[in-house]
Amino acid sequence: MIANLHNADIPKPVLEVIARLRELGHAVYLVGGCVRDMVRLVPPKDFDVATSALPEEVQRAFRKVIPTGIQHGTVTVVQGGTHVEVTTFRSEGDYHDGRRPSSVAFERDIVKDLSRRDFTINAMAYNPVDRELVDPFGGQSDLKAQLIRCVGSALERFSEDGLRPLRAVRFAAVLGFSLDPATRDAIPTTLSVFRKVAFERIHDELVKLLHTPRAELGLELLAATGLLDVFLPELARATPEAARQARAAVQASPVDVEVRMAVLLADLVDRTQARDIGLRLKFPNKVADLVAILVEHAKLEARVGESDPALRRLLARVGLPQLPQLIAVVRARVQVREPDRLPEVEALFARLEALAAAKPPLSAKELALTGGDIMATLGVGPSPIVGEATRFLLESVLDDPGLNTADTLKARLKDWQARSGR
Ligand code: ATP
Ligand code: MG
Repeated sequence: MIANLHNADIPKPVLEVIARLRELGHAVYLVGGCVRDMVRLVPPKDFDVATSALPEEVQRAFRKVIPTGIQHGTVTVVQGGTHVEVTTFRSEGDYHDGRRPSSVAFERDIVKDLSRRDFTINAMAYNPVDRELVDPFGGQSDLKAQLIRCVGSALERFSEDGLRPLRAVRFAAVLGFSLDPATRDAIPTTLSVFRKVAFERIHDELVKLLHTPRAELGLELLAATGLLDVFLPELARATPEAARQARAAVQASPVDVEVRMAVLLADLVDRTQARDIGLRLKFPNKVADLVAILVEHAKLEARVGESDPALRRLLARVGLPQLPQLIAVVRARVQVREPDRLPEVEALFARLEALAAAKPPLSAKELALTGGDIMATLGVGPSPIVGEATRFLLESVLDDPGLNTADTLKARLKDWQARSGR
């Protein structure tokens, strides 16, 4: 496996930073996720450098640096136009309330730095100049065995930082690995620590979990370990069959977090609850609103027989840009819940797509008459009647988009005025 590291494609600026610190006599390594990924022959997302040099020494060694997180020992070196994060070897003091260490200390020894890390596969370091791999906790053999295993005692590590159990499940899902039994068994025991974790941190891990093609496995592990009940009791407490269907539907849906959140919730909660859940899990307002709309309209199989005007009203509610996501949500649900009905549901999607492709007017601002035109036609100034008239016209064009010309709408408006006696 070390051959994978020797042949890995490491960006030139990263190699230059490592070589420079090495020249100055410092110990320096690539650490964490990038070493894991290079051993697996997967291109790393980013390359983190760790060194025995103190932050001031790192700053002095390069022309252009940004003191990103100096108090934690992190300096960003700008090398050949690329940003390279360099962090001084650290150990962590005792943890308070399962959230953050009371102190961090800089260290001279890479093994100290590796021993504060969460899992053996994330606790390897590699120096590409000397071609040296430091693997004190059996990361390579756990990679081979496809195991997520804590560095040291799982109970202790999960009690220090309550996020780690969720990270364990996330890595298991992302990598398609199993949890080592001791690591897995420590999760239910330390749930009280997990309960203290900020939802912002849970959000980031949940999004990564939903992004994997193995999200179903991750969701199963979350349920089985008790983690899910802490942040998504609506799913954790669903009947086993409803929960199984929700997970299977997520698996059947495209890798899109908004679609997957909606698929997960559509048959368990209503629109308002879906929005509340989105906000609780720290999704941006816009995302929570979208998930709520997708949940509200997710049961499209009930609407296969509806008329074009009714479907146009649906498009107006959902919004044309969101139609592909709504279709993805419904397709995944129906595939899992009522596969026999797929043909009729696909036919409904085709109708919706055809109606959308015709770009019908769906909102007041798309009417052929402006507010000014409407007032002039009615012979009134600004008043509540204008709002009523606008709604009347919009309903008319939702029924028949062909009516959306200035002349036709003016004629209808006069007729409406005469009939309603205004
Ligand atoms: P990804 O490819 O998903 O980013 P990663 O391994 O880079 O995976 P990060 O969350 O970016 O994961 O963390 C970088 C490294 O920092 C990890 O590999 C691990 O060594 C360490 N680490 C991160 N979070 C924790 C934590 N809560 N406890 C202990 N070590 C951690
Ligand atoms: Mg990372």
